Amino acid sequence: MVPIDEAHRLVLERCSALPVVDVHVDDAIGCVLATTAVAAEDVPPFANTAVDGYAVRASDTSGADASPVRLAVVGEIAAGDVGRSAVVPGSAVRIMTGAPVPEGADAIVMVEDTSFDGDRTVLDGSQTVEVRRSVVSGSAVRGVGDDVRRGEVVFEAGTEITPAVAGVLASINVRRPTVVRRPRVAVLSTGDELVDDGSPLEPGQIRESNKVMLLGLVARTGCTAVDFGIVRDDESALEQTLRLAAAECDAIVTSGGVSMGDYDVVKAVLSRIATMDWMQIAIKPAKPFAFGRLARRGGGEIPVFGLPGNPVSSLVSFELLARPALRKMAGHRPENWDRPRVMAVADTGLRRQPDGKVHFQRVVTRFAGDGRVHVSPVAAQGSHQLAASALATGLAAVPDGFGVDVGGDVEVLLLTD
Ligand code: AMP
Ligand code: MG
Repeated sequence: MVPIDEAHRLVLERCSALPVVDVHVDDAIGCVLATTAVAAEDVPPFANTAVDGYAVRASDTSGADASPVRLAVVGEIAAGDVGRSAVVPGSAVRIMTGAPVPEGADAIVMVEDTSFDGDRTVLDGSQTVEVRRSVVSGSAVRGVGDDVRRGEVVFEAGTEITPAVAGVLASINVRRPTVVRRPRVAVLSTGDELVDDGSPLEPGQIRESNKVMLLGLVARTGCTAVDFGIVRDDESALEQTLRLAAAECDAIVTSGGVSMGDYDVVKAVLSRIATMDWMQIAIKPAKPFAFGRLARRGGGEIPVFGLPGNPVSSLVSFELLARPALRKMAGHRPENWDRPRVMAVADTGLRRQPDGKVHFQRVVTRFAGDGRVHVSPVAAQGSHQLAASALATGLAAVPDGFGVDVGGDVEVLLLTD
């Protein structure tokens, strides 16, 4: 049996980041920046007001807290407008959030600190506003470039484009960031017993469950998941599907057919058409795992992740081996390939027997008042019992031996995004 760390190292060594492309920022969420993002513009591009109120000369408001002052209202500016009237001593301009601070003004008084009961249609200086609070120069003014300065490196290469990062890129007019191409990942299930069309189950049949799960896991990894369906335990059908997938995708994830059974066709076909590493990994669940490289038409090779068919094994195998590799391919930094790990407290004993393997028990995690993550195992730990594992939020790595006692420490991979 291969230790999990060794399998992980081997798989990661053999996968590399995809080429870079320019994509529209709208399509870039989840992609990784391949170059630094440098601001070509200041944000904000002009000094503007953070509040609705009156643009004033701060010195005109001194003493207003003790006795209100009156200022002549000489105009109004909404967001998107430019002011026409300058603020001269003794005057103010009514102003809306985001509008440029007019010439002559150096502070904004919030509307809540003013009273205006004149005619808003004639803001020509004939109407006055009462100001009840004094402000200092710069109050409620958002200065030019106080979010981002022109020329500044806003993000380094390797930064994931989260929704907020995409917002920043839009704000600095990086409309087509250069990113590592988003991996297209083929997902297929294998097995003669699998049914996914809702029809009544014939004897020996089961409902297919891995494909929708793996498609979702691939998508959540930030890749484009491509459904290659269920393939029967038939060597030529499987070969055809794998070759098609290799021509269209950057990686293939299969489930089933990688263990020791007579009908393990994934094993039979991949052994013939790909360069493979067949592994028995020293973990439970998900001991069988196949990793290989398949030549694609037009040159190059793509990785194939042959996950075991038992649904919980498929899930665990994806998390421990396929996901980190796909994240490397997508251009993430090494520290972001794996799920975060924490040392957690076992609220329930995590029992097991010695067998030379690390057991990845599915656990529910919670943050407790002591500032630590606490875990309890899900109700059933069988590799076919996906229902019990589906709501797990962590994988507790229980080392070989008799397990972890109540209150003991255990390393946990956090599965929540
Ligand atoms: P295999 O790895 O093909 O030997 O399958 C191991 C177990 O997982 C068997 O009980 C299969 O019926 C089951 N299995 C395989 N593929 C799937 C799937 N896509 N959905 C649900 N169960 C599966
Ligand atoms: Mg099978």
